[in-house]
Amino acid sequence: MYNQRVVIKVGTNVMTNKDNRIVKPVLDHLVWQIAELYERNIMSILVSSGSVIAGMEVMGESTLTDTATRRQVFSAIGQPRMMRHYYNIFQDYGMKCAQVLATKRDFNPGNHRDNMVNCYEGLLSEGVVPIANEDDAVSLTKSMFSDNDELASLVAELTKADKLIILTDTDGLYSGHPDAKGTEVIKNVSVDQDVEKYIQTIAKGEAEGKGGMGSKLNIAKQTASKNIPTYIANGKRKRVILDIMEGKSVGTKITL
Ligand code: GLU
Repeated sequence: MYNQRVVIKVGTNVMTNKDNRIVKPVLDHLVWQIAELYERNIMSILVSSGSVIAGMEVMGESTLTDTATRRQVFSAIGQPRMMRHYYNIFQDYGMKCAQVLATKRDFNPGNHRDNMVNCYEGLLSEGVVPIANEDDAVSLTKSMFSDNDELASLVAELTKADKLIILTDTDGLYSGHPDAKGTEVIKNVSVDQDVEKYIQTIAKGEAEGKGGMGSKLNIAKQTASKNIPTYIANGKRKRVILDIMEGKSVGTKITL
């Protein structure tokens, strides 16, 4: 039996290179760390983006002009491609994984929510790593999560996780502009601490874009307020998940 549960969210920016191609060694290192944790009786739940970009890899150019339709179609094509990558890598490490897609509505109190809890519990009790993503093929407008950080937070709450780790392509929340001299990563933030001024030191686009640092911090604070310590850290850093789980000071930790 495992003694801890951790939700790990990996964004598209972590797993792609500058040509928007998925970098398989990044996925491999991620799964290796999950397998290491499993050996230590820590069970992971992965929240992985990547379906849209994987669909683009398959399709290249497309005749679809409507953005919403493109997103639906690319994700429908790319999600099985992502799962094939994960399935193969987990198998290499002697582990099993499973896909759990959801829309925001599924988290409202009721049958869908209860069924999701049941499914997660069933998978975890069998030692199978659930891989969650938004069901982008059907989720449009009102049923959409603001981003997968929000999905990860809801999954952490649903599964009563001990920790949430949000992996991104920066080292955490900076005290100033990342390129400015003397800028450091802020190691600890509490839910009632006002860190707005630090977010504003980053260029507007970076701070406010989908899944940017501003929204990450909001989600992290919401999750931490439910007593689930949340980390924002660099997913490209070697052993980042293991270092966090070993209590090393990595990234920004958000707590009650
Ligand atoms: N669900 C989307 C995907 O898998 C990404 C959403 C996000 O990155 O926040 O491509």
